[in-house]
Amino acid sequence: MITKEDIDKIFDAARIEEVVGDYVALKKRGANLIGLCPFHDEKTPSFYVSPAKGICKCFGCGKGGNAVNFLMEKEAMTYPDALRFLAKKYNIDIQEEEQSPEQIQSHNDRESLFVVSSFAQKHFSENLYNTDEGKSVGLGYFKERGFREDIIQKFQLGYSINHRSAFSDIAIATGHKLEYLVKAGLTIEYSNNREDEPASETTTETKISDRFWGRVMFPIHNVTGRVIAFGGRTLRTDTKKIAKYINSPETEIYHKSDVLYGIYFAKKEIINQDNCFLVEGYTDVVSMHQAGIENVVASSGTSLTHGQIKLIRRFTNNITILYDGDSAGIKASFRGIDLILEEGLNVKVLLFPNGDDPDSYSKKVSSEQLKEFINNNSKDFISFKTNLLMNDVKNDPIKKAGLIKEIVESIALIPEAIYRSVYVKECSRIMDVEEHILLSELNKIRSKKFNDKKTQAPEQHTESVPDFDTTILEDKKDITLSNAEHQERDVIRILINYGNKEVRVDSQDDEGNTIEIGVTVAQLLIHELQHDNIVLDNLLYNSIYNEFVEHLEKESIPDYNYFIGHENSAICSLTIDLISSPYSLSNWEQHSIYITREEDILKKSILSAVYALKSRRLEIMIHDIQKRLKENPEEEEMIQLMQTQHQLLEAKKEFNALLGRTILK
Ligand code: ATP
Ligand code: MN
Repeated sequence: MITKEDIDKIFDAARIEEVVGDYVALKKRGANLIGLCPFHDEKTPSFYVSPAKGICKCFGCGKGGNAVNFLMEKEAMTYPDALRFLAKKYNIDIQEEEQSPEQIQSHNDRESLFVVSSFAQKHFSENLYNTDEGKSVGLGYFKERGFREDIIQKFQLGYSINHRSAFSDIAIATGHKLEYLVKAGLTIEYSNNREDEPASETTTETKISDRFWGRVMFPIHNVTGRVIAFGGRTLRTDTKKIAKYINSPETEIYHKSDVLYGIYFAKKEIINQDNCFLVEGYTDVVSMHQAGIENVVASSGTSLTHGQIKLIRRFTNNITILYDGDSAGIKASFRGIDLILEEGLNVKVLLFPNGDDPDSYSKKVSSEQLKEFINNNSKDFISFKTNLLMNDVKNDPIKKAGLIKEIVESIALIPEAIYRSVYVKECSRIMDVEEHILLSELNKIRSKKFNDKKTQAPEQHTESVPDFDTTILEDKKDITLSNAEHQERDVIRILINYGNKEVRVDSQDDEGNTIEIGVTVAQLLIHELQHDNIVLDNLLYNSIYNEFVEHLEKESIPDYNYFIGHENSAICSLTIDLISSPYSLSNWEQHSIYITREEDILKKSILSAVYALKSRRLEIMIHDIQKRLKENPEEEEMIQLMQTQHQLLEAKKEFNALLGRTILK
């Protein structure tokens, strides 16, 4: 039982922004904070924390509450366990006696796994310092590896005695249930058929064994710093049969694909540096910390997963992969690049030379040299792939085409169109290929991916509909998202080229039956834009658009000849630009890339242009809201802004879905 006084003390001490801040990076907005929601997967912050009120809330999924509710929801803790967790976090001595065996058993299942894991960590650490074997073998090994005392303690490294059930015996003797030791992956039950006994007396006996024995131990912490699993390295060199590292199995509290080794110790510095180093193993993380580089995590025990990247994304959008430069490292880094791009994060790569990994390299140089080496040699993913494969390619055009395709395939994974266009530019520069060729290849890959996904999971695809790249960014100022220039231009291009052509659309007759009728392109396009009260920002485009509206009322639609002869010379020259085949076909044919003639797919082009413009308009509105949010508005306005932002994001998703269907149908 926790007394009423203690509960009050805990509520007084708990700071909601610190409790939530264990899970995500929070940014100050006036008196409040916002961040990515820790309950659902998102890329734009919709989670709001009010320190004054002691509460948090998500405008996307609605979850939230005070510090205790938050923990109960997030960690599936019981009310008393959430209180105990906070008491520990804030160093509040609660008047609960040393836990008796009954109390140990009173936790819910999940919490019991934390209890035995924490017990095991303490036990292994004590072995390291308080047993002869631990001191000579375990501590001796760490010292020999060059690990400093403070680092050994910080990472709570330990040692498991070289005896089959040393740990399990003590755990059971101190009141821990075998069931939980097994569920936490610390103890293994096995049956022993006593075959040496006469057949009639054959007995099957269940025995227990420690999973880890005779190993140095690396506890694995979750994002709040609780021990959830272990990695253990053997110290035996006599036999090759035994695995160098073994890890805890998947358990109720250890979902390997969502855990990163070192995240608890790294997150503060990841936020400060706005970058996260990703390494392969335990020793790399520990050695980098020792060298003063703390924004580092490892995907130890598994190859990198989407869940792990999502965990990093709560703290930064930038990842630098630091792997061993051998062929396995190269392969892993290629895979890592693609996974990271797919999650919408920025990725750089550095491979260590001559079979070194961050651990071994950091032992050879000073920490200044290590930092400098990393800074000078991290490459963006296009340069990285190009540098690595360029030797192979030399002057072989077929191989060069293969490399370009490989790079475009990576670019195609990036969810945001704006970033894709930046990389297309970069690739075009480095590989010396025209942008529109890359762009057409890019759209081909994205269409294929979308179609594949659609057949796999038909009902989910609105979530994952790609944005299609219909325009080439003229220069980088476009990524400031200040206007919808390209989308507006595309609307005008279609009006001028095809405004008086007819397309077939579904309509309803007087009895409500669906019938097909013919309308002009101008009619359809203008109807679609007027439906959402869209006015073109660009004055030149707007005046052309208005001429179409006026002509439409008079039921006579001009063609491009009318605009070529227009009294406004700006309109004439724009028209000439727009009618001189915007998608210059000759180039495409040269490279054996054919596109369907636009007339043939006119209706789709119209709808694509309309949806692209509407989607872009929404992007701009979202961008403006985010700008306003950064200016620390008053709470009331902030909440309003975040709610609107959420609605706009939903609407944008819908338009992108329509856009995807229009292009791909
Ligand atoms: P050595 O002293 O022989 O270099 P090491 O302990 O440094 O051994 P490496 O083989 O160099 O281990 O591996 C580098 C990293 O990869 C280690 O930090 C370890 O965390 C990780 N690692 C290797 N094998 C495994 C494994 N089976 N499971 C989890 N992590 C592993
Ligand atoms: Mn090593």
